[in-house]
Amino acid sequence: MAATDTVRILLPDNRNYEIRIGSGLLDAASSWQGLPKAGAAVIVSNETVAPLYAERLKSQLRAVYPRVDLVVLPDGEQHKDWASLNRICDHLLGEALDRRTVLFALGGGVIGDMTGFAAAIYMRGVPFVQVPTTLLAQVDSSVGGKTAINHPLGKNMLGAFYQPERVIADLDSLDSLPDRELRAGLAEIIKYGPIADAGFLCWIEDNLDALLARDKAVLGYAVRRSCEIKADVVGQDEREQGLRAILNFGHTIGHAIEAGLGYGAWLHGEAVACGMVLAADLSQRKGLMPTAFVGRLRALIERAGLPVRPPKLGAERYLQLMRVDKKAEAGAIRFVLIEELGRAGLHAVPDALIAETLAAYGAA
Ligand code: NAD
Ligand code: MG
Repeated sequence: MAATDTVRILLPDNRNYEIRIGSGLLDAASSWQGLPKAGAAVIVSNETVAPLYAERLKSQLRAVYPRVDLVVLPDGEQHKDWASLNRICDHLLGEALDRRTVLFALGGGVIGDMTGFAAAIYMRGVPFVQVPTTLLAQVDSSVGGKTAINHPLGKNMLGAFYQPERVIADLDSLDSLPDRELRAGLAEIIKYGPIADAGFLCWIEDNLDALLARDKAVLGYAVRRSCEIKADVVGQDEREQGLRAILNFGHTIGHAIEAGLGYGAWLHGEAVACGMVLAADLSQRKGLMPTAFVGRLRALIERAGLPVRPPKLGAERYLQLMRVDKKAEAGAIRFVLIEELGRAGLHAVPDALIAETLAAYGAA
């Protein structure tokens, strides 16, 4: 069994919190001690995750809170919407739960983002705890305090910055995760190498087979190092005034793929993986990185079983989709490009150069 690791997120105004990473954390009493006192805890989960883990979390929380409720939402990105958010609020108000009530998000990024947003707005803010059960949620979405729901006109367009009290990432919950979801989470782990830590990129290359085989100690290190890097970035730039944007490496083209194919066709991590290959190619075309880097990243992503060939949507459609990206400013599409291994920055890229990259990968 892997030992428990703790990563601290340091933020102003007493909002520091811990990310605990390890095996057996769901069933460990210490995971749930020292949280804000309240008359009630409400677990928010979905139809897939609740049957697997909700009873175990409930029985732990019963030792701490006089009352423990469970709200089960439908599963899927298409349900990250007003209707689901309302179901959480309906429960809280319907049961007359007060402003000290603690919410527990038990699930992947969809449940985490929605529960966090509900916590941010219920009675102007109640405490919440992230219990991420996907690899993607453990290395990315549960950390950093971005919460949101989707709107028919745009993904994550309604939300708030709102930090959790604690994150409990139990590596054992990954045992039940489908392979495809595991690989999608690996994409976000790979992302942290080129943008922040060249040594971590080498480590992932050396340990990829063990990661795919779900070796707990190796997964534990990957989750910890990913959280450390994200914690460091978020601690410097909580509200994305600048630096935090580097976490979006691969996401500009990734979001275009997701939107262009219709959400759900490709998983987010799959789209980001392919987007990273193309963003690496742009970094090379801009003269920032050597050709060898593009091949190296592409080989790693391929080995992880993630897509490296973008869908053929046509250059015009890609450009149109990327202009609505939250990072776009005054017409120019901005990309996170790699400046040297372990360092990234935002760069405006002319349409003609983007079109060259898309054509080179058969997407134009
Ligand atoms: P998800 O929440 O949809 O989970 C993927 C699938 O796995 C779902 O069907 C889920 O029910 C299932 N699942 C979850 N845990 C499981 C387990 N332990 N065993 C078996 N099945 C399990 O998707 P995700 O990839 O976790 O998260 C994607 C979401 O996260 C997107 O909505 C994205 O916008 C958001 N996100 C947010 C941030 C942020 O900073 N807030 C960052 C990245 C992504
Ligand atoms: Mg992402």
